Amino acid sequence: MNEPTRILILGGGFGGVYTALTLEKLLRAEIRRGEVELGLVSRENSIVFQPMLPEVISGSIGVLDVITPIRRLCPNTNLYTRTIESIDLAHRSVQSAVGFGSRAHHLHYDHLVVALGNVTSFAGSPGLAEYALPFKYLGDALALRNRLIHTLEEADIEPDPAVRRALLTFVVAGGGFSGVEAVAELNDFVRSAARSFRRVRPEEIRVVLLHAGGLILPELPASLATFAQSLLMKRGVEIRFNTRLVGATADMALLGDGDRIATRTLVSTVPSGPNPLVAMLPVKKERGRILVDASLEVPEYSGLWAVGDCAAIRDASTGEFCPPTAQHATRQAAAVAHNIVATLRGTPRKVFAFHALGKMGSLGRRSAVAEIFGLKVSGFLAWWLWRTIYLMKLPGLDRKIRVATDWMLDLILPPDIVQLKTERALGVRREYFEAGQVIFREGDRGDWLYIVTEGEVEVLKSVPGQGEQSLRRLGPGECFGEIALVSDVARSATVRALSPSNVLAVDREAFQAMFASLPPLKGFVEQLIASRSA
Ligand SMILES: Cc1cc2nc3c(=O)[nH]c(=O)nc-3n(C[C@H](O)[C@H](O)[C@H](O)COP(=O)(O)OP(=O)(O)OC[C@H]3O[C@@H](n4cnc5c(N)ncnc54)[C@H](O)[C@@H]3O)c2cc1C
Repeated sequence: MNEPTRILILGGGFGGVYTALTLEKLLRAEIRRGEVELGLVSRENSIVFQPMLPEVISGSIGVLDVITPIRRLCPNTNLYTRTIESIDLAHRSVQSAVGFGSRAHHLHYDHLVVALGNVTSFAGSPGLAEYALPFKYLGDALALRNRLIHTLEEADIEPDPAVRRALLTFVVAGGGFSGVEAVAELNDFVRSAARSFRRVRPEEIRVVLLHAGGLILPELPASLATFAQSLLMKRGVEIRFNTRLVGATADMALLGDGDRIATRTLVSTVPSGPNPLVAMLPVKKERGRILVDASLEVPEYSGLWAVGDCAAIRDASTGEFCPPTAQHATRQAAAVAHNIVATLRGTPRKVFAFHALGKMGSLGRRSAVAEIFGLKVSGFLAWWLWRTIYLMKLPGLDRKIRVATDWMLDLILPPDIVQLKTERALGVRREYFEAGQVIFREGDRGDWLYIVTEGEVEVLKSVPGQGEQSLRRLGPGECFGEIALVSDVARSATVRALSPSNVLAVDREAFQAMFASLPPLKGFVEQLIASRSA
């Protein structure tokens, strides 16, 4: 028997899953006869319905109800739930990372559809990778919801007014659809959840949206954007226009105009960078996205196709590049599936053209803005349309029923404030400090050992009657904070960053495990303490 034609899809988002769905329909007979084999590789075994992700923050939709298992949607596709490590175009093979069995997969293909989306990239902005919460996947929404509840819990028992103010300040960067929808849900949630906390007063809560332009939602007509803007402000969201987020520390958002906002919750919905796998592909790109022809094939490699956020696709009807939306990704998926089948059968391919049906943005609490077939709608009607349309689009009947039930219960029940402790043990983390920022103070409890990787810090000790005296300066490759960890005493000095500094922080448990089991490290640390004490 002849080898089957292998069609491999990379990515389990809108682009990848809808390509598999359409191919299953178009090639039903060939798959049954074993002439065609479909495969899909994705990190997760489910597709996230991102338009509803903001509602996970407020809990108006259950955490698992915005994801649908790919296996149920595409029962005739072989699913490989693995991280892809490399794509070898010359040998037509894809390598995935090792799984439980510690064996990597090499998957060979005749046709490859790349639908890997883009990634949240904080490169070039100090501290964002460490302190800003991204907002793209289900885990991000869950982490944010937990952070909001955690900060309310902390604020409820925090006596220091400055710390309390930072805990009750929530900053979201990005005035596009995802930033606006996220800030609207966040604002509704913290303000209504705060009623369950005895010592948190509503007027203490501050929610800030940072937007680089002069009007939020630039994708929408100005009248709708103005409506959204006024509504958010009326509900207590402070909007900072023409303001970029340029960095972060553990307790501050650093703004482009030099201003700082003390906060413990910073969400960044910008910027998106190319997926590293896509960046490595030796094909032509347009702003980091794979450039394809009108049939969605990469001109330099036959059998290589790309759709969704990772592809630069010119719409034949407008001549413009398609925006990165789910609406476009699903249409491109259907078109690529059709063109792969046309190639297999030797029939004409279709040119990709799609008129977006409209744009919608939810503003929380029964309000939204929408432009549908050129018609502008705002307020309750837009919200009702938003819910109806997205409920229809949500893949899987069981998910539709669950979400509809969530929405009904949300009308009558108070918001859930249960915090799920999902964080794993830290061990080692990276931290960023601004020049002048205190890393720890004399007298603090010592939970971390720090290693300077970039910048310079100063160790200061208070001397009665003389204020703080500088003991030493430390640079890259030097460590501090070891005395409190080894002797289990409070910090014996204050450490402050002299210049913008990156450090590696090793937590108490990890440090003590290494200290006890690695004699050379024990010897080094003891010697260091002896020399510093002298
Ligand atoms: C919060 C939010 C709200 C949004 N709201 C809307 C909306 O209302 N309307 C709209 O039209 N669009 C919306 N969008 C945009 C829309 O979600 C995207 O345009 C769409 O998801 C793009 O689909 P995609 O398949 O190209 O990429 P993605 O959905 O990002 O899928 C990429 C897939 O590739 C997988 N992957 C990536 N790298 C690897 C790897 N190395 N190994 C294995 N798997 C990998 C990922 O796990 C993922 O499954 C929203 C986006 C966000 C973040």
